[in-house]
This record gives sequence, C-alpha cells and structure tokens, in this order.
Amino acid sequence: TEKRVFNFSAGPSMLPVPVLEKAAKQMLNYENSGMSVMEMSHRSSSYLDIFEKTKGLLKKVMNIPDDYKIVFIQGGATQQFSMVPLNLLKNGKADYIITGAFSKKAAAEAKKFGEINIAYDGSANNFKHIPTQDELNLDPEASYVHLCANNTIYGTEWKYVPETNGVPVIVDMSSNILSKPVDVSKYGMIYAGAQKNMGIAGLGVAIIKEDLLQKVAPTTPVLLDYKLMIDNDSMYNTPPAYAIYVLGLVLEWIDNLGGLEVMEERNIKKANLLYDYLDRSDFYICHSNKDNRSLMNVTFTTPDKDLDAKFVKESIVAGMTNLKGHRSVGGIRASIYNAMPIEGVEKLIAFMKDFEASNK
Ligand code: PMP
Repeated sequence: TEKRVFNFSAGPSMLPVPVLEKAAKQMLNYENSGMSVMEMSHRSSSYLDIFEKTKGLLKKVMNIPDDYKIVFIQGGATQQFSMVPLNLLKNGKADYIITGAFSKKAAAEAKKFGEINIAYDGSANNFKHIPTQDELNLDPEASYVHLCANNTIYGTEWKYVPETNGVPVIVDMSSNILSKPVDVSKYGMIYAGAQKNMGIAGLGVAIIKEDLLQKVAPTTPVLLDYKLMIDNDSMYNTPPAYAIYVLGLVLEWIDNLGGLEVMEERNIKKANLLYDYLDRSDFYICHSNKDNRSLMNVTFTTPDKDLDAKFVKESIVAGMTNLKGHRSVGGIRASIYNAMPIEGVEKLIAFMKDFEASNK
C-alpha cells in the first residue's frame, strides 16, 4: 500500500484498503467456491448469500424501517432521474429544488414526464447556498419534492430535511450516503450511485417506501419500474453482481468500525481540519457559504486561475491526485469521502500551507 496516493477524486473515488485487500484475497477462489464472485451465477447459493448479506447490512447500517424496500439497479444515479418521475408522478406534478448541476439535470429529465415546479433555483449565486425553509416555493399538490442532499460539484450540503406537509421527499444522496446517520423515515425515497461512499461504479441503490409505488403506465420499460424490480428482488435480469459484493464489503468495514455515528465523527473531524484552515487563510477562498458546507466535497480557489492550475500540478508531484475542481466551478475540490484517511487531509493542509507561503 506504500505506493498508493491520496486520491481526492469526486467519484469513482478511494475505497477503504481493507475492502480492497479482502476483494483481492477472495478474487481467485471465493470461500472455497472455486471461482471469483465475478464468475458466479447470480442465482447460485454462494451469490445469493452475498446478496442477502449485503441487503441485510445496508438495512442494519442505515437503520432502514421495514416498510422500505432496497432496490439494486444498473444505470447509476442518472437512470433514477428518469425512474423517479416515471414511477412517482401521480398527478403529473412535482417540485424540484435546484441546488447544483445534478438536481438541475434531474429536473430537466422530469420535465419530459410532467409539470415540474422549480421550488428554488440557486444558480443566481453560483450554488453557494442551500435554501432555508422560507426560501422554498412548494406546491401543496406536488406528488413529491426532489432534492439533492450533497452537491458534489459545488461542495454544499443540506443540514435539514424540509417540511413538506406530508408530500414525500425524494433525495439524491449519491455523494453523502453512508457518511452520517440519516432518519430514513423522513424520506419517501433515497437513491444513490454507488461509486463514492458505497463502492464501485455500475450500481445504483434505491431505498423506497413501498406504499408510494403504484401501477406504472403500460409503456414503462421493465427495468425502469421500481415495483417490478422490488417484486423480483432486483433480479428481473442480471444485477451488477460484483458491485453489490463490493458494497457488502464496504458495509462490513463501516459496521466493524462502529457504524454511521463513527463515520460522521471521522468525517466532521476531517472536514473541520480543512475548513478551519481555509477560514484562517486570507489566500484561499471557500466556495460554499459557511452554514451549508459539505463534509464530503470541499471546494475552494486560490487568488487566481493560474495559481489554481499550479496548485493542482504541484499537488500531483506531492503524492495527491484529482484535486482539480469541476470545470463549472474551477479552483480546487478535495473530495474526502469515508475512505479518505485523516492522514490524507493532514497532508493536503501541509501542502496548502507551503503553497500559500511560497505564492503569496
Ligand atoms: N447525483 C450526484 C449528487 C452525483 O454526484 C452524481 C455523480 N457524480 C450523479 C448524481 C450522477 O451519478 P451517475 O454517474 O451514477 O449517474
């Protein structure tokens, strides 16, 4: 592991080393099955054990109530931008809260299927801010309210669940799921792409309150029908079998460390180190407003674009990768998901101090 770099990628991103080690150990011969998990029939007893164990651990770690169902799907989080309106637009109307690039994409997709009310749009302030309850223009007749819990590109995060008077809240948690405890019962549905805190690309997860689902229009493609996926326990067709196995290993790692309370403690500690340093510095500028800073994606700039580029270039030489900000914000983005050790954040801060001293 001594040659591994601190990888600040927004996703796919770092995995915990014990997860990679276990996957490596089990690669050629999974528990005396004589084959790797990649080579197993998804209907075999070896694989069904992995599948059930993974579902059970997700339910345990997230404390998912019994009236919610877990669905594994391919197509990433983006496929769910289509599935949500296809399955949940009961009266053709829904609210979308736009706090960044992905919630904007989700709303644009939903507009193909219904009458979408934009309950808030943060584009005017370049998505530095998460709306307060008073700033939301919610439609009482909406079938659901959609929001993105953590804005991967802008580095902002919701710190509360909005009050919607009984209208179900549907949340894209792609970039902060498993980073802290959440009260699942406050949401109608939670969904995420797996390639950040849950594991590897190729898997999307949905956690749905089952009574929200109804019969879908007969033209709905089978693989976009949540109810059909639940009725077939995510095995209507071949599921992303290896990605589900990796999710199981990640959940086992989280559970062994003490669950989501411990993840949250670790994540607060890491993020505070960085934000405290950013606040003390008069060189770096943090993108997000103070009250809605993300624990997962820390976005900031140096005084100018050339220095941003120099920062990124020199950070690679120093043993850190993927610190370049997304093209729509520029600057630097440090994604510090669950698997980023505190040593990575300490190393980044030491580098930032040196860079500030020599470029001020
Ligand atoms: N939502 C959020 C918050 C994301 O960060 C991403 C990917 N970075 C997506 C949606 C899109 O996910 P996918 O690539 O799995 O479709």
